[in-house]
Amino acid sequence: MAICDHDERMLSTMQDEPLSLATILRHAMTSKADAEVATWTGSEVRRMTFGEMGRQAGRLANALRELGVEQTDRVGTFMWNNNEHFVAYNAIPAMGSVLHALNIRLFPEQLTFVANHAEDKVVIVDGSLLPLFGPLLPGLKSVQHVIVANGDASALEAPAGVSVHSYDDLLAAQSEDFDFPVVDERMAAAMCYTSGTTGDPKGVAYSHRSSVLHSMQVCTSDGMGLSERDNTLVIVPMFHANAWGLPYAALMCGASLLMPDRFLQPEPILAMMQAEQPTFAAAVPTIWTGVLGQLAAHPQDITHLRSVIVGGSAVPPAMMKAFDDKHGVPILHAWGMTETSPLGSVAHPPSRVPQDEVWDYRISQGQFAASVQARLLDDDGNVMPHDGESLGELEVKGPWIASSYYSADGVAVEPEKFHHGWLRTGDVGKITANGYLTLVDRSKDVIKSGGEWISSVDLENAVMSHSDVVEAAVIGVPDDAWDERPLVAVVLHEGASADAEALRASLATTFAKWQLPERWVFISEVPKTSVGKFDKKVIRAQYADGQLDVVTLAGPTRP
Ligand code: ADP
Repeated sequence: MAICDHDERMLSTMQDEPLSLATILRHAMTSKADAEVATWTGSEVRRMTFGEMGRQAGRLANALRELGVEQTDRVGTFMWNNNEHFVAYNAIPAMGSVLHALNIRLFPEQLTFVANHAEDKVVIVDGSLLPLFGPLLPGLKSVQHVIVANGDASALEAPAGVSVHSYDDLLAAQSEDFDFPVVDERMAAAMCYTSGTTGDPKGVAYSHRSSVLHSMQVCTSDGMGLSERDNTLVIVPMFHANAWGLPYAALMCGASLLMPDRFLQPEPILAMMQAEQPTFAAAVPTIWTGVLGQLAAHPQDITHLRSVIVGGSAVPPAMMKAFDDKHGVPILHAWGMTETSPLGSVAHPPSRVPQDEVWDYRISQGQFAASVQARLLDDDGNVMPHDGESLGELEVKGPWIASSYYSADGVAVEPEKFHHGWLRTGDVGKITANGYLTLVDRSKDVIKSGGEWISSVDLENAVMSHSDVVEAAVIGVPDDAWDERPLVAVVLHEGASADAEALRASLATTFAKWQLPERWVFISEVPKTSVGKFDKKVIRAQYADGQLDVVTLAGPTRP
């Protein structure tokens, strides 16, 4: 029975209160005032309660207003994960302006492009990053003010038209009272640019609405399950998809935050873990590979970690197993993108599956959140069934998924990525009937050999399960007979002796003969992108330039 027809719409009786980061900040400053953000200094932490953070956010908002920052103006940050960055994270959106966390590891030309594209009016810079930032400043066309935190502002030479301020002096002169406005929930709150793994950085502008809804998802027990009981080690940089949404989610639930600042090597990470006993941590797989290596040489109890979120690229199952078996720490695999805020899916295994199937669920990219819809399209645009076998390019839609890239001049940026209301992810995978995603590859990385596909990720995971291997990256290289063949770039443990023949032999039970790679190269480290993913663009270029010393075994013969 129809409740209403098209002419007589029945509106709800509910309040239309906008979702707002200002509301969440006010909640954190009062109800969660005792939660803490702490920054590692190399030997101890600098602590600040959420109450104090809120007062500092008030001072920063007043200071920015005085410098002429209006609603929707962009304020860039060029900072490590630390207390001051967290203050800026909260003050800027809550005052109605737009936070733009700049990726400090982009190439200088990319950074200049990104800051100019976003038209950042003010940039807050960490003192330790001035040697990187200073040379960029003359090229940043829209920047009027630079605020130097944790360092000496007088060390920065300002070009004409740019004023430089000390963060401490600026805030000391301000009142902590600021009436954070609740703006239209669809207004931009924060921006991130993609890290450019597969092309130029593109801007995503998150709204207050998307940020609040996404934070709720991070806090749900079947999302990341972040809660007031957690002390959260945020290794993923605050410029990488807003540190996977953890800072705003922590504000919402009152989880404490542990910030590594510039101490991102395995040794200091373990030292800060020992000192602060975090219960929750988040970082890309390459960080955890390093931590595992360090733990092998210097054993340490890390069972205080009840959950470690890993995503950004596929988690090698061997690494997940090592954390389980050797350290009693569960890795929770998650999938997402800058364009998806980033949380799309999380690999909690369903409680009602037999024990021997649990692992298959854990190593998958996980189940989509209730508000995230997903579909797979084949090369001809047909929607593929969710049967756990059919492959296609993943498209997603939902309230915290981008519907376009930011464009200042109204000219659409890569409009082909947006397809009838869906975001094309560029990821190729399959989905089970109960909504679990398994990615096979990025469409640009998949190797097409003799008309058939080889997953570079499957090969990498298998090679990395060999006990002599630290890490391995696989790319497709041109081949006369097969169009394309896999090349494996391997890093061996110090003193390990496995050669190409032995490594290939170890793959023989998992892969078909024609999939077994014949090209191998032994390197000292896999090149990484600005956010710590394998940088296959660099390996491809090195191969094309003849820089790699390739060992070539006998290849497969044509059937
Ligand atoms: P960039 O596109 O510049 O690398 P992002 O961090 O937004 O920056 O990258 C998103 C991409 O990272 C996804 O499209 C996917 O290819 C990859 N990715 C993220 N999480 C996972 C995961 N758990 N498993 C495999 N790939 C992942």
